[in-house]
Amino acid sequence: RDYKSVALVVGVTGIVGNSLAEILPLAGTPGGPWKVYGVARGKRPSWNEDNPVEYIQCDISDRNQTQSKLSLLTDVTHIFYVTWGNRETESENCKINGLMFLNVLEAVIPNAHNLRHICLQTGTKHYVGPFQFFREIQPHDPPFTEDLPRLELPNFYHTLEDILFQEVAKKEGLTWSVHRPDLIFGFSPHSLMNIIRTLCVYAAICKHEGSPMLFPGVKELWNCYAVASDADLIAEHEIWACVDPNAKNEAFNIHNGDVFKWKQLWNVLGEQFGLEEYGLAQTGERISLAETMKDKGAVWEEIVKENQLLPTKLEEVGAWWFVDLIFGGEVSIPSMNKSKEHGFLGFRNSQKSFISWIERMKACKVVP
Ligand code: NDP
Repeated sequence: RDYKSVALVVGVTGIVGNSLAEILPLAGTPGGPWKVYGVARGKRPSWNEDNPVEYIQCDISDRNQTQSKLSLLTDVTHIFYVTWGNRETESENCKINGLMFLNVLEAVIPNAHNLRHICLQTGTKHYVGPFQFFREIQPHDPPFTEDLPRLELPNFYHTLEDILFQEVAKKEGLTWSVHRPDLIFGFSPHSLMNIIRTLCVYAAICKHEGSPMLFPGVKELWNCYAVASDADLIAEHEIWACVDPNAKNEAFNIHNGDVFKWKQLWNVLGEQFGLEEYGLAQTGERISLAETMKDKGAVWEEIVKENQLLPTKLEEVGAWWFVDLIFGGEVSIPSMNKSKEHGFLGFRNSQKSFISWIERMKACKVVP
């Protein structure tokens, strides 16, 4: 088959990687027909198997392994970098994430002679600072625009951008784009941070135990406007940047383009799982999911068995630390003007997006 473009999706079983793996091979995808290579460390999971992707098991934190496996991909035209490694401190994050990204670029750029574009996915932490310093520093005044100066804090997103600029400059004609999503609504049982999956697991446990599903966030978040980024929309945004000359060598925010309130989505979640009691804790006290869920491993095992779900451990599917962290305060909203002005007009209805990914979680038997 004659392919027009060849994608290398690094992190192909992740929350956006899986969307790219589904969308890129479709007949009508811009820039296509696409041949797709997909990289992750783990064995290829069953829910990713139907995508026409050449799956490559490779740990990109290992330089030799990355060289030996990815330098062979001489026909790659576009790289989608949608992965990360999580460590305790941000300086460790800078080190490991810088190493991973550089390993990939050093294996691919000198060997893929038709390489044209690199999409790097980072996120809103570019503006609010890394998790280690979350809510401890004063960010710039929102809505965040892409031209704001960097905060003076270690941030692995800056490390990744600097490596990108440095490596791209070595090859004439090679272009780049940086994509900064907000909280991602998507699939992937393998994602380190998946809000939909984590909330679905919480809802399923509340249902199973007959306990009320209390909102694990602060009251300010319950009531304020919030934004999210649909994983398919992010994939579309990244593909747009590969094909549209207006999008070259620029960074862009990417979210659904509407606002919602968590109190509204909480009702949706309650209804989706047939719960009778859900809402904000009447005592006004904040609930920590890491604390409430810490002894629920056996309960989850029971739920998995009873409903013949995909075999998972609670610690794999419930990213409690993540919810506890991001539900700790109000949301600052990034601006979508730059993307629109450069020609990307995609959007999602966040409530419909929320429901569609919950349905996907159920259809793929991640939750009952
Ligand atoms: P995910 O955690 O969803 O996916 C990571 C993917 O990379 C998986 O396929 C994983 O599979 C693979 N992977 C991890 N480590 C390695 C490795 N050493 N070698 C090869 N493959 C590896 O990623 P996200 O999409 O969440 O993250 C990408 C970027 O998006 C990050 O910078 C993140 O901060 C940002 N972001 C994420 C948000 C979210 O809500 N998730 C929100 C906003 C920004 P395997 O484990 O099998 O290797």
